[in-house]
Amino acid sequence: MRANRRTDTKPELALRHALHRLGYRYRKDYRLDLDGGRRVRPDIAFTARKVAVFVDGCFWHACPEHGSNPRANEWYWGPKLIKNVERDRVNDAALILAGWTVVRLWEHVPIDEAVGTVVTALTATVAPGPAKAADPGNAAGPVSPSDGTEPPNRIPPATDDSLG
Ligand SMILES: [Zn+2]
Repeated sequence: MRANRRTDTKPELALRHALHRLGYRYRKDYRLDLDGGRRVRPDIAFTARKVAVFVDGCFWHACPEHGSNPRANEWYWGPKLIKNVERDRVNDAALILAGWTVVRLWEHVPIDEAVGTVVTALTATVAPGPAKAADPGNAAGPVSPSDGTEPPNRIPPATDDSLG
């Protein structure tokens, strides 16, 4: 097995290229300094929208499909991989606390699916500040009252739990 290359794995590169082709701009291996001195480097970071994308190697991050414990040297790999997974979870929690959306993809996820997941996460978040003027479809910010396309206040009937 090759050494653990932390960055620029093939699935990660493919995802970056695909996103770039779609016109998305991001930072790779962007270091985030979070509360408590925790430093996290998402593989792909959309800093304006605060979307952090990680492409997790099946082995290193213990994918349920391919990350089965290696038979040999289990005494060594077992705890090491568990530590990796625990660190992932702690990092996720720290990112979410800091207002980030965390997207984790297994390296085995097909590229189209990976791109779709990231794009969905990006469209679900609204970049702060004025949207680019060249993008009229991206009407960020509060919904204007003059927009009559949406039915007003579609609130479901109140469920009153206090009624016995
Ligand atoms: Zn896998």
